[in-house]
Amino acid sequence: MSYKIPLFDLNFDEEEEIAVINTLRSKWISTGPKCEELEQLFCSSLSVDYALTVSSCTSGLHLAMLVLGVKEGDEVIVPSLTFAATVNAVKYVGATPVFADIKSLTDLTIDPVDIKKKITNKTKVIIPMHFGGFSSDMDSIMELARKYNLKVVEDSCHAPLSEYKGKKLASIGDIGTFSFFSNKNLSTGEGGIIVTDNIDYFKKAKLLRSHGMSTMSYERAKGHATTYDIEHLGFNYRMDDIRASIGVVQFKKLQFDLEKRALVRTWYLERLGSLSSLIIPFKDNYEFVSNYIFPIVLKDSTSQIRDKVRQRLHDFGIQTSIHYPPVHRFSIYKNEYIDLPLTDYVVNNEITLPMYSKLEEKDIDFISSKLKIILNEL
Ligand SMILES: *Cc1c(COP(=O)(O)O)cnc(C)c1O
Repeated sequence: MSYKIPLFDLNFDEEEEIAVINTLRSKWISTGPKCEELEQLFCSSLSVDYALTVSSCTSGLHLAMLVLGVKEGDEVIVPSLTFAATVNAVKYVGATPVFADIKSLTDLTIDPVDIKKKITNKTKVIIPMHFGGFSSDMDSIMELARKYNLKVVEDSCHAPLSEYKGKKLASIGDIGTFSFFSNKNLSTGEGGIIVTDNIDYFKKAKLLRSHGMSTMSYERAKGHATTYDIEHLGFNYRMDDIRASIGVVQFKKLQFDLEKRALVRTWYLERLGSLSSLIIPFKDNYEFVSNYIFPIVLKDSTSQIRDKVRQRLHDFGIQTSIHYPPVHRFSIYKNEYIDLPLTDYVVNNEITLPMYSKLEEKDIDFISSKLKIILNEL
């Protein structure tokens, strides 16, 4: 069915089309100048030294684990309230993911108090995920990392240009990763980027991104090199210039897109902020935030009630989602008993409402009024 109000809409126009046509006509369609341009845009706006485009955030997270030397026998502390890729990357290198709970029903990011409880002498890395674009408690996480000699990888897929105390997210830990999947703030279909200030991590990731080859075909085409060596067992985790050319256009629109999303959030807060039956996570966050999604959590509820509310919204033509089915309940992870009470409550009672920059105030009026009708009927 086609929804009256979908969960998400791309902010594409002729600019993306022209960029793709220009790249096709340039005849350089694989990793090249457009990927480099996108990397430069990330470096300058995030104030990081290095950025490397990759085929997806998933491959970026895998590269992050590899360059940090995470291996079998190591433990990596992760949230369960995230997309499975955050955790799967830990398994790719044979390490063990250790789940930590979220801070509260209003702050859905990983809890430093629970992280601390889960640190052992095998722990190597913490992967905070900035839920919805809202920062994890980076001061506490970086303090734990310093104290216990751990590395931090910020899964910043939700958080391009989001800020924490004057810094851009992804620039605070050792490595930050972004996704350009279709439904993300910056969409190219597939793709991603990793950022770091550490030249060794950057060089190693660049090598592993392309088969462990010592030079890239783009560099050879520019006459910088004529042959190559295979120095490490690498992968093909490259992004291509067709997608990167879309990414460059999307990046230039991003600040404006996010300002519009922030306005959409205020429209929601004006209408739903004082309802006693709802929790609006991150309600008191006043940082500049990407607002990747707009999550709400039903108070004193159950998953049956939540599913009923979603069904009624669906009947009104409003598309919703759930962020997320918890990773610790998936078949490949659930063999151990894991107690994450706050995560469990949120995954059973969260509803993700439509959020994208093209939404108008009348759309938020429509969604909010229908939601109020449904909540009153419960
Ligand atoms: C989308 C997403 C990913 C995976 O990104 P891909 O580019 O699709 O591999 C990982 N983590 C989070 C939090 C995401 O939202």
